[in-house]
Order: sequence, then structure tokens, then C-alpha cells
Amino acid sequence: MGLKTKQEYIESLRKMNPTAYMFGEKITNIVDNPRLRSGIEATGATYEIAELDEYRDLVVTESPLINEPVNRFTLPPGSIEDLVARVKLNRKLGNYVGTCHQRCTGLDCLSTLSIVTYDIDQKYNTNYYNNFIEFLKYIQKNDLTANAGVTDVKGDRSKAPSEQEDRDMYLHLVERREDGIVVRGAKAHQTGSLSSHEVIVLPTRALGEGDKDYALAFAIPTDTKGLIHLVGRSSLDTREIDGCDIGNTRYSKYCPTLIFDDVFVPWERVFMCGEHEFAADMVVRFSSFHRQSHGGCKSGKIDCMIGTALTAMEYNGTSKASHLKQKVIDMLHRAETLYGCSLAASYEGQKEASGTYFIDTVLANASKIHEGKEMAEATRLMIDICGGFVADLPSDRDFENPDIGHLAKKYLKGASGSDVNNRIKLFRLAEKMALESADTVSDIHGGGSAEAHRVTIMRESDLESKQKAAKRLAGIDEK
Ligand SMILES: Cc1cc2nc3c(=O)[nH]c(=O)nc-3n(C[C@H](O)[C@H](O)[C@H](O)COP(=O)(O)OP(=O)(O)OC[C@H]3O[C@@H](n4cnc5c(N)ncnc54)[C@H](O)[C@@H]3O)c2cc1C
Repeated sequence: MGLKTKQEYIESLRKMNPTAYMFGEKITNIVDNPRLRSGIEATGATYEIAELDEYRDLVVTESPLINEPVNRFTLPPGSIEDLVARVKLNRKLGNYVGTCHQRCTGLDCLSTLSIVTYDIDQKYNTNYYNNFIEFLKYIQKNDLTANAGVTDVKGDRSKAPSEQEDRDMYLHLVERREDGIVVRGAKAHQTGSLSSHEVIVLPTRALGEGDKDYALAFAIPTDTKGLIHLVGRSSLDTREIDGCDIGNTRYSKYCPTLIFDDVFVPWERVFMCGEHEFAADMVVRFSSFHRQSHGGCKSGKIDCMIGTALTAMEYNGTSKASHLKQKVIDMLHRAETLYGCSLAASYEGQKEASGTYFIDTVLANASKIHEGKEMAEATRLMIDICGGFVADLPSDRDFENPDIGHLAKKYLKGASGSDVNNRIKLFRLAEKMALESADTVSDIHGGGSAEAHRVTIMRESDLESKQKAAKRLAGIDEK
């Protein structure tokens, strides 16, 4: 019990027995599968840095709930300082792993539930907040990781859940029993579900009276009977399986589809069941928290891309080229604007009725809109600076081949004094950061698609005060 080391985290996953499929086969040894292991290593970094002096003060904090030191990824924010620390920690981690560390989504769910379960109880005298607090204690005491089961597969997007031809397109209640509920459906793009001990399920959208059966929130272990992890393809996945040309030698990301094939959830793990009018609040809270998280980790990833660009300039002999220095400046200000927006969302946070602090939604969503466009721009700039070998570098196997290797390396040589092997490694890292589909697509869709961010800032912004200011300045008096 208490804080886990990275090794203890990995061993704790080894004791679990989830049902998982990948490339048409059932996988029994999750932890030692190279594709999944690099994702587990990325989450493992959240445990690893808790042991390092440089990061410890940021990662390890005291839980007022269990009065013990905990990993920050298990602590719903109880102050502005906690909100700010989330962003700083995510930036450090984005920089440390150069991809997605995959543990923020669980914290975003815990933070959401710590607000909304309390509010549901106030209205309906239910016991959800107590259920949640017991679950949170368990998570904190055992330093567990959870993934976020939010995105339903959704079928026909123009129809509400209850209007779908196949009602399983949104996760729903199948049976209400004395000891719990049975649910069916599927959640898509489940970041790091096999690197997690628990999956926390929240609704994916606002729900009306007719969609009560879809208003569900709960948590279950990731190896629960009936839960199937179907691991999807990623652009560089077979390289991880091969152990060759990986680019980032340690860390990666994967996002299975999670199928709930009549899964039983005991009542003590249910946090919402039928209170449809709170579904919208769950979605807004989760997605805003998650968009704030992205501002941290993605600015950390741009930091890695800047480091890659600067090193490429060194190895290519272009360090003095002024147009490339300008491009580095363009990358720097993108990282800082993203980070700044997320920090601002934190500093403008407010205390909710349950005592949890919630961020400013307009600023968090503005940060995510910025990310959706500017991560692609930062990537473009990195590729521009590095050169074309980001696209078509020969394989390490060619470099090692006795017939061709010496020629391949001869023609890969860069500036005098630079090591050709290091130049090769650097191009491979640039390729990975630019093209790893599971991570780069999340810049756009992670935390909801771009339109969702835009709709949220329009809805949450104080438009009336802006109009009032304009009318006062123009001398318009409509009364
Ligand atoms: C790499 C990655 C990691 C992710 N990780 C997680 C995770 O850990 N947990 C999780 O729960 N989810 C996760 N997501 C899911 C993410 O939140 C969704 O991808 C996102 O909400 C978009 O949903 P969708 O993929 O179903 O696309 P769609 O909803 O099909 O959207 C496609 C486009 O259609 C538009 N659209 C859709 N419906 C309508 C409509 N009714 N009217 C008008 N326009 C519409 C959208 O705005 C968008 O432009 C992840 C996604 C990615 C790509």
C-alpha cells in the first residue's frame, strides 16, 4: 500500500488478467508484449518520476482524505495550487516521455466525479458521493491508474442514443439487480486501458429524459468479466513488435476499443444511474479538465520537438541559419501560449460545492483550440528544420547490414564533428513525434473534437458583458 515504485506498478499489472485482442489474436501476456509495454512504460514514468529528486515535490503530495502521501494523479484538486500543479506536472511528463503518458484521463474522471456525484446527492439524496469517496480512497491507498471510458461509438451521429437502430451504440443499462447493474456497449479510443487498473465510465454527451438508461457513471477493474480490450493499429505499431526503427526507444501510446459485453457493476461502484440531467455536467467537467491537462503535456511535447530541431541544426550544420532560428522562436511561442492558457485556466479556477476546485472552462477550451491547430504547426516547423530524412530514413537493419551499412552511413553524415549514429537516432525520433498516429491525432480529437471546444467557449463566455462594453463606448443607449 502507499506510493508504488515503477516496478511495483508493472508487477501489479502482471497480476491482472484482462481480455485483450490485437492483430486478430488473443493476448495473454500484456506486460511483456512490446507494443503494449511501451505504453505501460509511458504510464510507468508517472511512477518513476515520483522517485526522482528533481520531480518528487511536484508529483508527491499529501491527501487530506487518507492523510498519506499520494501521487498527484490520484488527487482531485483541492486548491488553485493543485490545479496549477496538474499543468506543470503534465508539461514535465510530456517532455519526459515525448508522447502521451496516459495517466491524466483517470485523474480528470476522478476530479469530475468528486464534483458531480456530490451535486447529484444534494438533489436526489442518493449515495453516489460516498461510493465515490470509498473508491477514491482505494485508488489513493494503492496508487492505481484509471483510464477514462467516455467516448461511446455513437453509431448515427444525427440521432440520440435511444433513437439509434442498435441501442448498443451508446453504453446503456441492461439490467438493474439487487446487488448492482449490468451494462452493454462500447467505448472507443481508450487511451492506455491495458496500462490501467481501473476503467472509469462517464456519459459521452448531454442526455434527455428518454435517454435515462444511458446516464451511467461507474468504475470497474480492467480485467472484469465481459470487458474486452480490442487494441487498434497505430502508424508505428509493427516497428514496436519488431523492436526496430522505433524512434522513441522507450515510450509509446495505444488506444483500444473497450467492449462491455454485459458487464456487471456492483452498486458500491456506481456513481450515476439514470439522473440524465447531470450527464451534461459530467461531460463539461471532464472535457474541460482534460483540455486543461492537454495544455500541459502537449507543451511538454513541443519542448521535445524544439530540442530535436535544435539538435538537428547542430548535426546538419545549420545552427547559424537565421530563418531556422526564427522557426525555433515560432515553436517556442506556441508551446508557451498553450502552457500559459492552461495555467490561466487553473489560476482562474473556483471552489465547487463538494470542495473540489474546477478550472475556468473558457480558458481551458481556448487552450485546446490552440493545441488542435498549433501542434500541427509546431510539427511542421520541426520537420522543416530537420530535413527530408524524417520521411524516409533507411532501417537500422540496413545500417547494420555488412553489404550496404557503411554506404548508408557514409551518405547520412552531417556537419563535421557530428556523429552519424546520433544523427540517425535524431531523425528517427523526429519521425516518431511527427507521425505516431495515436498521439498526433489526439492533438485534434483528444478531449472532444474541435467543434466541441468552439461550442463550449461560445456557450461559457460572457458575451453580454462584451456587447455592453461596446455599446457604452459607442454611446448606444437602448433603454
Ligand atoms: C488518440 C485519441 C485518444 C483518445 N483517448 C480517449 C480516452 O482515453 N477516452 C475517451 O473516452 N475518449 C478518447 N478519445 C476520443 C475523443 O474524445 C473522440 O475521438 C472525440 O470526442 C471525437 O469523437 P469521434 O472520434 O467519435 O468522432 P465523431 O464524433 O464522429 O466526429 C467527427 C466529426 O464530426 C463532427 N460531428 C460529430 N457528430 C456531429 C453532430 N451530431 N453534428 C455535427 N457535427 C458532428 C465532429 O465535430 C467532428 O468534426 C481519444 C481520441 C483519440 C483520437
